[in-house]
Amino acid sequence: MTQQAPRPGAGRAASAPLVGNASEPTLFEFSSPGRRAYSLRTTGVPGLSAKELIPAEYLRDDALELAEVSERDLVGHFTRLAHRQYCVDLGAYPLGSCTMKYNPKICDEAASLRSFAGVHPSTPVRAAQGWMQILVELEEMLCSITGMAAATLQPAAGAAGELTGLLLMRAFHEARGDHRSKVIIPDSAHGTNPASVTLGGYEVVTVGSDGRGFVNVAQLKDALGPDIAGIMLTNPNTLGLFEEDIVEIARLVHEVGGLLYYDGANLNPILGVVRPGDMGFDIVHMNLHKTFATPHGGGGPGAGPVAVSQRLVGYLPGPRPVRSAAASDEFILEQPAHSIGRVHTYYGNSLVLLRAWTYIRLNGAEGLRRVADVAVLNANWLREKLRGFYDFPYDHPVMHECVISVSSLKKTTGVRALDVAKRLLEFGFHAPTVYFPLIVDEALMIEPTETESPETIAALAAALVEIAQEAAREREEGTALTAAHAPRSTPVQRVDEARAARQLVSTFDARR
Ligand SMILES: *Cc1c(COP(=O)(O)O)cnc(C)c1O
Repeated sequence: MTQQAPRPGAGRAASAPLVGNASEPTLFEFSSPGRRAYSLRTTGVPGLSAKELIPAEYLRDDALELAEVSERDLVGHFTRLAHRQYCVDLGAYPLGSCTMKYNPKICDEAASLRSFAGVHPSTPVRAAQGWMQILVELEEMLCSITGMAAATLQPAAGAAGELTGLLLMRAFHEARGDHRSKVIIPDSAHGTNPASVTLGGYEVVTVGSDGRGFVNVAQLKDALGPDIAGIMLTNPNTLGLFEEDIVEIARLVHEVGGLLYYDGANLNPILGVVRPGDMGFDIVHMNLHKTFATPHGGGGPGAGPVAVSQRLVGYLPGPRPVRSAAASDEFILEQPAHSIGRVHTYYGNSLVLLRAWTYIRLNGAEGLRRVADVAVLNANWLREKLRGFYDFPYDHPVMHECVISVSSLKKTTGVRALDVAKRLLEFGFHAPTVYFPLIVDEALMIEPTETESPETIAALAAALVEIAQEAAREREEGTALTAAHAPRSTPVQRVDEARAARQLVSTFDARR
């Protein structure tokens, strides 16, 4: 992104109402020559100026054109923007597929302890034994949750975990001189799955869903053969349904020498109930930033550990912190024999890992089981409250999320899934996932999560029912559809979803 030079003396008074105003000025509009929010007076290296420290060819000729603002104006700007945001700490965030739930504050507190946050990642392992213990214990807990033999904590996100898993799959086959070219994915899969398969150098083979919303086993049988490296599945699948044929699927894939990859981005519905390892999976990635106490989105750090079965342990990224053979309370680094190499610097996003460790220890086995029970109960309860007002394309008890369709409402009133999602913002809820999975027409994919109270879920259901009834009423009376123009009461009103992509403007000019 490039910015125009700030206009001299353009500094603006900084006060903006909290809501109902879409025009918080940009930082450049607060700019006034000579103002500084912060100044690095030294390089931090005693006796060395920036000119001596940085090689001449890397130094700029002219000063960078930055907004010149005081710390006070800077903080005011970002605080006003923050007050107009919706976030997990504010209210329910029923975003299907990508669990967004409230996270206990004690996890943030753990991650801000100086004794962890202040340790340089290059600290010798013998001087960072506490950190090593956290990493090894987290790996052990994740393995016991998933039923796997060992895990790497390095991958920085779910998609990074997927790529790591596919590279492990490739390394496993190649080590046997077995050159396979294809990976099977069901048509309800998360979009990162086919992308990771392609990036991993494999060709995607899509298998359809049957009338119940499960993997079509007949189609799967046709697709299986000696060129299949494996299958990527998530269970519960993206319709929120538990694949009842999973044991049969695992047997069929293993029979042709393929591996099973489990997309465990959202583990909350199965914690303490079933384990991917017991279902027959060989590789599992988890999104600690969905299930285990770090919110995701906005580009914040995540962690996508990958756990594997015994026969894949030797291929894991390294070096890995492990317990030493001599003493189980001593930790060392170990390089797996056939490691695929590093996928992240040092040990991964360590403070996200520490949050997950804290969350798991805080809940214990019983607490995690309760997370699963409540996540599933909430989704089913919400779904029943919506019966009769929306369509249920796959009418089956769900796990942690439910997919409903706005198809009939659209036919009778013209109100689409997008309109329902926009209108819901005015009731004080974040929108659910829309138009996903792709196999459901006008889909709303809702995950109430285990952290919301019955009162909140009842209010969410009531809002969705009210939106459907309002549309029907307005259509009957022939008045304008409120949902079609919503939201109006939020800081930013209905935006043109496509304009920014079609008319890309990446420069800012305060004079315009
Ligand atoms: C979120 C998600 C991913 C991708 O995870 P990122 O951390 O966003 O890369 C993959 N699969 C499923 C099912 C997901 O919900």
